[in-house]
Amino acid sequence: MRFFDIGVNLSSDQFAKDRADVVSRARIAGVENMLLIGSNIEDSRHAIALANEFSLVASAGIHPHDAKSANADFCQTIQSLSSHKEVVAIGECGLDYNRDFSPRDKQREVFAAQVALANKLNKPLYMHQRDAHHDFIAIVKEAKVPGVVHCFTDSEEALEAYLELGFYIGITGWLCDERRGDALRKLLPRIPLDKLLFETDAPYLLPRNIKPKPKSRRSEPLHIEYVVEQAAELYGLPTEDVANAAFANAHHLFGLELTKCD
Ligand SMILES: [Zn+2]
Repeated sequence: MRFFDIGVNLSSDQFAKDRADVVSRARIAGVENMLLIGSNIEDSRHAIALANEFSLVASAGIHPHDAKSANADFCQTIQSLSSHKEVVAIGECGLDYNRDFSPRDKQREVFAAQVALANKLNKPLYMHQRDAHHDFIAIVKEAKVPGVVHCFTDSEEALEAYLELGFYIGITGWLCDERRGDALRKLLPRIPLDKLLFETDAPYLLPRNIKPKPKSRRSEPLHIEYVVEQAAELYGLPTEDVANAAFANAHHLFGLELTKCD
């Protein structure tokens, strides 16, 4: 099977000591590509450098948590970062009213600016939304580019709205959580296979269906197969079919050439 983990925080300090091992373990497990998430300017630079080092791809942008520290010229900086060949999406950007680490008006301003930038650069959007669906929709309906709502955990109403706008849906190990993943498990089969993407959000969201249970709480991209397996079970389809669909979707969204497996 071939996997494309569309959400890895490889720049995290939790990977500081063994990044190369994490990437090679993932490759052995069939993870052929990963998108390294940039969550602010400095982190985006780091993600791009790592993507270059390991022949992966990255996003460049400002996460809502970091919106409060965006400089006046942040759009120009993201634009220049996005000229690196590794950068295939603008983000992680969006709104997070769950934690409110940045003032909401600032979150909206920084998100709207990144949507406009993605339109200008004709690059897909890599988006985050938590407890902010209505304000999120008001901004994102201006998008003229495709995108993914990553780590989707919201309601049916939100899902329908994102699909209506043509967005892809990123599914994490949240799906494998027997306590909080219940609503998502019910909704999952509503996601058309051609809009489905998988991500670990490593080092976060360790899938809870890993057997035997790993000693470390740290999630790694090699664990993506547990998320895919859980999804395939819910679709009632062979794991390989679901994995292959998501693999092709990631290439399609990020404008990457899909090579034949032999
Ligand atoms: Zn996120």
